[in-house]
Amino acid sequence: MSKNLKWIGNDLLFSAGIINPKLPQSGNCILLYHGIDDGNTERINAKFVSEKDLKAQLSWLKSRANILSTEQMFNESKHDKGFNISITFDDGFANNHQYLLPIIEELEIPITIFVTTIQLKNENYLWPDAVDLFSVIGPDVINFKGEKYHKRKNEYVNKYRVRLKSVVASGGYNLAKEALELMGFEEEALKNFPSVHWRMMNADELKKLAQSPFITIGSHGVCHDSFVELADNDLKEEIENSKRYLEDVTGNTIDQIAYPYGHYNDQIVDVIETAGYKFQFRVELQKQHNALDKRVMTRLGINPFISWGNQVKAIGHGKY
Ligand SMILES: [Zn+2]
Repeated sequence: MSKNLKWIGNDLLFSAGIINPKLPQSGNCILLYHGIDDGNTERINAKFVSEKDLKAQLSWLKSRANILSTEQMFNESKHDKGFNISITFDDGFANNHQYLLPIIEELEIPITIFVTTIQLKNENYLWPDAVDLFSVIGPDVINFKGEKYHKRKNEYVNKYRVRLKSVVASGGYNLAKEALELMGFEEEALKNFPSVHWRMMNADELKKLAQSPFITIGSHGVCHDSFVELADNDLKEEIENSKRYLEDVTGNTIDQIAYPYGHYNDQIVDVIETAGYKFQFRVELQKQHNALDKRVMTRLGINPFISWGNQVKAIGHGKY
């Protein structure tokens, strides 16, 4: 049965009250969120959850699971017999400061925010978000590296249906700048979009979050480039410079890191450990044997486009 049919079937049972969303008696899951909006802005992608939904979800989880910090999740002696959950946010959007901080202070639950330190490039947006937004307003066709890309449902794709965003990902920040120019990107024009969808936290906002006793800050690199695509020197800069920036701004030791896109390999885990990180987070297993690596844990990305009942099932299974 396809995933969609399964979800629709579950939703019928949930709405008829035949079953209620329920977590298993025991287990662990680390959740991954990104941005939060007011629920009234038009969504460009699935990375955002509304303030209202987030509060309802976190309250629901708090009353039914043991909410652990990510550091506690790494330490099995801190787990309780029931279901253990850790909550993480990636990228470091300014909307985390605006919407998440008040919710967390009210619920008093630990969370970890993995921040991309793009401020080191004197920018306040990430290239993947700029590509998403300018794929909506850019020209119908662009010619990138001798290949034509047409707009289909707010994405540029070539004749083989390969997405421009995936092509750009292999070259990261620098290649993205070239593609963005062809899309008519200008920093000024970003301001035509609601800032909740792109603006990254500045140093003051980051500092305020870090001062909360419930919040741990971790690194998510500097440019949101895939670590597996980087030359050795560039990788070192991404993990060392982001650590240094976050430590300077927050005054805390930064020893947790989440790989952009979840991309990593064995060698990267070693390099990151050498740089002083104790806790590393992927999104899913790249290779099965990595499951044995105690330095890395897996997270489940929250899907705001499915019902909470189906989401709870996925949390219980640790996968969709
Ligand atoms: Zn990210």
